[in-house]
Amino acid sequence: MFCYQCEQTAGSTGCTKLGVCGKNEDIQSLQDTLLYGLKGIAAYAYHARQLGARDEQVDAFMHEALFKTITNVSFDLNQHLELVLKCGEINLKTMEMLDKAHTSRFGNPVPTQVETKTASGPGILITGHDLLDLYELLKQTEGTGINIYTHSEMLPAHGYPELKKFKHLAGNYGGAWQEQKKEFNAFSGAILATTNCVLIPPENTYLDRLFTIGITGVPQATHLKERNFKPLIEKAKSLPPLPENPGKKIWTGFHHTAILGLKDKIVKLVKEGKIKHFFLIGGCDGSKPGRNYYTEFAESVPKDCVILTLACGKYRFNKLDFGDIEGVPRLIDVGQCNNAYSAIQVALALAGAFNCTVNQLPLTLVLSWFEQKAVAILLSLLYLNVKGIYIGPTPPAFISKNVFAVLQEKFELKLISTPEEDLNRILKK
Ligand code: SF4
Repeated sequence: MFCYQCEQTAGSTGCTKLGVCGKNEDIQSLQDTLLYGLKGIAAYAYHARQLGARDEQVDAFMHEALFKTITNVSFDLNQHLELVLKCGEINLKTMEMLDKAHTSRFGNPVPTQVETKTASGPGILITGHDLLDLYELLKQTEGTGINIYTHSEMLPAHGYPELKKFKHLAGNYGGAWQEQKKEFNAFSGAILATTNCVLIPPENTYLDRLFTIGITGVPQATHLKERNFKPLIEKAKSLPPLPENPGKKIWTGFHHTAILGLKDKIVKLVKEGKIKHFFLIGGCDGSKPGRNYYTEFAESVPKDCVILTLACGKYRFNKLDFGDIEGVPRLIDVGQCNNAYSAIQVALALAGAFNCTVNQLPLTLVLSWFEQKAVAILLSLLYLNVKGIYIGPTPPAFISKNVFAVLQEKFELKLISTPEEDLNRILKK
């Protein structure tokens, strides 16, 4: 972006009007944060719109906030801070809209055990976040003998009554997005990418079996239109059948309506000292080193604590056996990243039951960030004044030192250190 005041690339080291032209490091940082948050909101609003839901306030905010990032519109740091928190508020509203759109179309998710094995026969693997794509695919493949497997953020689909009723929704395959190249190559069926995070296949691997739809696109992969899955189905039938491969069962489907069904029991167990603390370990996964922190953290959580999880970071530990506390599972998969809305509803309901604030609950959020939706969710949590969140594995590069210091001071935002040190600090409180 070119700045017409200092006649340099905005935010570049040559920018001579630091603090005046509005493109000093901190304004730039807040505008970048806002833009990433808006991208996150756009993703959720897009999914909701596909299901027929939209909200005038969300649309109006997108326009206002984007306008605010235009050259030389506002140089006011506080205004930018306010707007960034407003972005969190609007994202919360958008996640709520998407939750309602999902549940009114597919029903309230229920806890469900999902196979991770593959059955012999033709198969299609569907990745991304778009449940409507999955629903249409299930309808069009019914009775064809093709099994449908979910990948990564599609796992929570198994909990929705209108999706799980399809017998050929056979199971979940693979882990988080960064394993795609290896795992998609090993999956011998056809593959459908509905949203991010899709990777470009390495040469001579699965490109001829990869299909995209809607917002996605991969050069030379077949792009499907209007949810007509015929070419994908034909491809799946033409490929050699999948082998029978063993796997274990994993749980998903703990929507807030399901967790709140256990509320009285959870409250009793907390009061009796049998549940000491709740951890929300969630967020996006990534390929850079340091993310094994989250697995080690989950493994180190004491046996009298419960872990809530969401988004694709959970694939690092969701196949481990965490057991239960008198019937309450110790690992509760709330769902996709947008189901952060559900986790927030659970926290608010527990705060209501204990007559305290969310910050006074024995609850700590340990988040991994990677892409734009994670930024929008973090902003929603800050808008709700949730304090003491741990984020990692590194501070977001677009957050300047000063902005991070403000967040640390105002929201006690913390960077992760080691699982042992952080757990000690949290549980000693
Ligand atoms: S949770 Fe984040 S990183 Fe993971 S698939 Fe979804 S958008 Fe991508």
